[in-house]
Amino acid sequence: MIDRRDVLEEQIHRWIQPALQKLNAYPVPDASGLVKLDAMENPFAFPEDLHQAWFQRLAEQARINRYPHPEAPALKSALRAVMNIDERWDILLGNGSDELIQMIAMAVKGPGRKLLAPEPSFVLYGMVATFLGLDYVGVPLTRDFELDLEAMLLKIEREQPAVIFLAQPNNPTGNLWGDEKLRRIIEAAPGLVVIDEAYTAFTHADYSSWLDDYPNLLVMRTLSKVGLAGLRLGILVGDAAWCEQINKVRLPYNINSLTQVTASFALDHFSVFEQQTRELVNQRERLIASLRQLPGLSVYDSQANFVLVRTESDEAARIHQELIEAGVLIKKLDGSHPLLADCLRITVSNETENSQCLAALQKVLPGA
Ligand SMILES: *Cc1c(COP(=O)(O)O)cnc(C)c1O
Repeated sequence: MIDRRDVLEEQIHRWIQPALQKLNAYPVPDASGLVKLDAMENPFAFPEDLHQAWFQRLAEQARINRYPHPEAPALKSALRAVMNIDERWDILLGNGSDELIQMIAMAVKGPGRKLLAPEPSFVLYGMVATFLGLDYVGVPLTRDFELDLEAMLLKIEREQPAVIFLAQPNNPTGNLWGDEKLRRIIEAAPGLVVIDEAYTAFTHADYSSWLDDYPNLLVMRTLSKVGLAGLRLGILVGDAAWCEQINKVRLPYNINSLTQVTASFALDHFSVFEQQTRELVNQRERLIASLRQLPGLSVYDSQANFVLVRTESDEAARIHQELIEAGVLIKKLDGSHPLLADCLRITVSNETENSQCLAALQKVLPGA
């Protein structure tokens, strides 16, 4: 009898990409029963007084026996209106901006092709590069999480990356890197630069107006952080010449009917989400101020809907675990990158959940 497990082990070793065998899947911890402050979700549920109209719209327009519209034109025009996207630019939609990152990387991949990003930043840039066999070039930020312009320019010159990803505000550090440095990088880049504006709703910075200045720039957004994470809708904006090429790797019906109809409906009522976003920005400032009152934490400023904190030496894992035991799930960044040693990331939520988090921290922090 051949042992099935031996066969599988041998086959996987032989056939699964070696780089993939070493990688772990994107970690999503079980949050059931916990106050969920680990993934930058908007805590406010879809407003109940809109449910009836929403269900009716779905019943009328989501014809789920048919394939969805491959181009989602109604949704695109709603996005244009709400996000002020000029007719000069094309829009490409992804099943989350995660899928857009993958599509961009697929469109440029090839032997020796490189994807560059400052780090720590959004981990998916490096993961997608690895999946697709692109070389990933990570350029460390400075110790205070600013862009190291000289190091960036040097690596750009030396590595000639096909694409550079710049998250603004950056995840997980929450900061903006400043227009001057960003312009220098876009001007030095031999290829595409994608400014990932996943958190644009929580900041005044908006780089879509730079599309006029730079033919190699694309701007990426998502509805996930403003209250619609469950829909999975990412938006890429830029010159039609790029979008036309990247669109070729898009799977034909990537935006499902329920998402198309629901997102259009939500955009018709976008003031509701803008109101929630404003509330979260207020809550962010209150949370930062309260966190700064706690002993044993350094708290970074944030332009996003999360706050990065640094604990005392070697305390992050314990605090993270004891918070879970106290019913609160935040993100442990310690161990994910040398610059993030002792770091934790807390998603900004409503007043109730922020207070629960603060109370739990008060209990588990040393000297509290
Ligand atoms: C959350 C996040 C995304 C992913 O967004 P989805 O649209 O939900 O896939 C992309 N970029 C950054 C920087 C993020 O933090």
